[in-house]
Order: sequence, then C-alpha cells, then structure tokens
Amino acid sequence: MTAVSRYYPVHLERRPSLAGAGRVAMNAGRHVWAYAAGLWHNTALLRIEDVHPALPVEDLDRALGMCEARGIPVAIGVIPRFVDGATVVDLGGAVAARLRRAAADGAVLGLHGLTHQRGEGVTAADYEYAPGDDVEPTEAARRLVEGRAILAAEGLFPRFWETPHYTCDEERHRAMFTQAFPWQFERYPPGVSHSLQSRSVVRLGPVTWFPENLYYIPGYADDAWVDQMLAHAARLRCVPSAVAGTYVHTFVRGELVARLLDGMLELGFVFRSLPDAARRTRPRGRGTALADRLRKAALIATGFDDPRALPPPVPIL
Ligand SMILES: [Zn+2]
Repeated sequence: MTAVSRYYPVHLERRPSLAGAGRVAMNAGRHVWAYAAGLWHNTALLRIEDVHPALPVEDLDRALGMCEARGIPVAIGVIPRFVDGATVVDLGGAVAARLRRAAADGAVLGLHGLTHQRGEGVTAADYEYAPGDDVEPTEAARRLVEGRAILAAEGLFPRFWETPHYTCDEERHRAMFTQAFPWQFERYPPGVSHSLQSRSVVRLGPVTWFPENLYYIPGYADDAWVDQMLAHAARLRCVPSAVAGTYVHTFVRGELVARLLDGMLELGFVFRSLPDAARRTRPRGRGTALADRLRKAALIATGFDDPRALPPPVPIL
C-alpha cells in the first residue's frame, strides 16, 4: 500500500485528455498492426552486385555459396567488360562458368551496363550513362547489343537491366533500356518516386520495376550499419505486400552479409526470385487502388513514410 500511496497522486495529476487517449489508442493500434503484419510474409529481393570479368572467382563463389546455403534466390548484376586504363577484359573463363552454374540453379542475371565506366574511369567505380555525358542513343544501343553478345557467347542471358549507379539521362536512354529489358532493378523507379511505389514491385504497362530500398553494405560498414538496415526492414515488414530490396558486393566481409541475410530471415522475410516476385504483382490499375490506400495508411502508421526514418544518403555504388 505504501508504494501505491506514493505513486498514486502522480497518476491523479495526469488528468485524462482526448489527445492523450488518442495517443494511447494510436500506440495500441500500431502494436496490433505490427503483430498482425507479422502473420504474413513479406518479399525480399537480393542482388549480387558488380560482377565483372576481373573479379576473383573465389569471392563470387563465396557470396553465391552463402545464398545457396540459406536457400536464397539471387539476382546478379553483371558487367560484361572490365576496363582499367589499357586493360580491357571481356567476360569468360572461371567467372563465366560460375555464373552459368548459378543461372542453372535459378539465379537471374541482369545487364549492368557494358563497362560501368567512361573515359579513364575504372569499371564498377565509374558511371556509364551519367547525364551530361551525351552518350548518343545509337552508341547506347550499340553498348546494349555488345554487352548482350559478350554474355551470349558464354551461354549467359540477362533478363533485367540495371543502370550503372542507377544514373542515366532519362530522356535519352531510359525508354531504350526499358524496351530492351521489361524488368528493371532500380533504387527508385523513375517517374514513380512516390514512397509507396518505391516500397513494392511496380508493374507499369509492360515494364516491371524491382525496388532496391534498403540501401547496401558499403566497404566501411560495421555491425551497426547492418543493424540499421535491419531496423528499416523491420518497419517495412509492417506494410502489407511491401517488398524489401537490397544488394551486396562480393568483396564485403562475409560476417556482415550473414548478419544481414540471417536478420532478414529472422524478421520473416521470404527471399524470392525476380520471376516469382513479378508473378505476385498485379499491374497498377483501378483494382489496386484500395490496396494502395491501405498500404499507404500502414506506411504512415508504422512511421515508414517519415523521411526522417529513411537511411542516411550514401554514395551509390
Ligand atoms: Zn554497379
């Protein structure tokens, strides 16, 4: 009784108010919503990034092995030609062989530019179609054909396009890329930057956009970085049908990749292949309007729509 009499007056001082009651109801609602959301599975997409001819095949093998061990289907962004100064290497040999094996096991390959560089730049570090570079459309088309031909000569067939550093001159090149590949892997689908749409797979006409919305593990990352990605994934999980997309480079420390993948699985995400995720996505239209409204409400309720909740901007790689 002593304890009660000591604390009781404190409660009496907090007079009930409508706003207070609203806050309590809102918080309770969030918990109920988050619990209910945990009852369904959300889709996750994983891409292995910047796979090029000069890559140590052991690194690629290790990255693929980590995914295979967890039953995680992967998309692979492939750069067919490596360029560094006078060094020019087309895809072949052990890296191509490992990619063939991965494709046979269900990995989906994507064309990630021809060289992912320009001028004196080094492959994978540089842009290829940056605005202002004035790559002529005929030259961009030639690179598309050449990239595909290099892969085809090795028995590899890309099914999606991923613009180097997600950056290109929209007017000059985007239409061409979407014509060449109806599947696009993007951080934010161009022209549909609405927060809801960058948190799910979007089918617009004949083009399907797969989102990358969790950012990635940069070379300087630590455990805390990965935990931050997982925190964002956890919030995203509260949104019905939301899709979490991320990618890893083959040179990233294995412990960090394992931390991310196992963390996502623990959160209840189901990693799906691009074809599987595409199959589960209905074209945008009147029929999806109500579902969109519900998901938008969920984004707001879970705080995921708050720009402050987004990860800090990081350099695109
Ligand atoms: Zn890249």
